[in-house]
Amino acid sequence: MSGSGSGSGSESASTLVAETVWKEIESTRTVSDDQFWTLHFIFGKNLEGAARIVDQRGVSRICGHPSGRFIFQVTGESTRKKDHYLCFPHHFCACYSFFYEVLNRRQQLSCKHQIAARLAASLGAYVELNVSDEELALLLLKI
Ligand SMILES: [Zn+2]
Repeated sequence: MSGSGSGSGSESASTLVAETVWKEIESTRTVSDDQFWTLHFIFGKNLEGAARIVDQRGVSRICGHPSGRFIFQVTGESTRKKDHYLCFPHHFCACYSFFYEVLNRRQQLSCKHQIAARLAASLGAYVELNVSDEELALLLLKI
């Protein structure tokens, strides 16, 4: 049975499990209850926030042409101000909690924007925005 300790070795195992679930979701384009709870076990409350963001169509994929390179833009959940965060699902988000909880304190595997981007990508539930490579480069400079 899986240990419930917060050992450092569990991080990569969780990442592997999550990756498997994302791939399954990608092939079926739906999230089953089992898959949801597996992801919930890994990501905790951040998954709920991510699911709400995806439901509200809060994820856009900004795709540069002609290179085809892309980055996700995820709308924050704050109702006071409509924040947008530029986000690479696997390794970066421009939000505060990514720096504070993910990088610094290692309390979370991913911030909810990263999870939202990954979920939306797996479901195909994002808005596609096409820009030129120059515009994409300018966006990345602002991170
Ligand atoms: Zn974030």
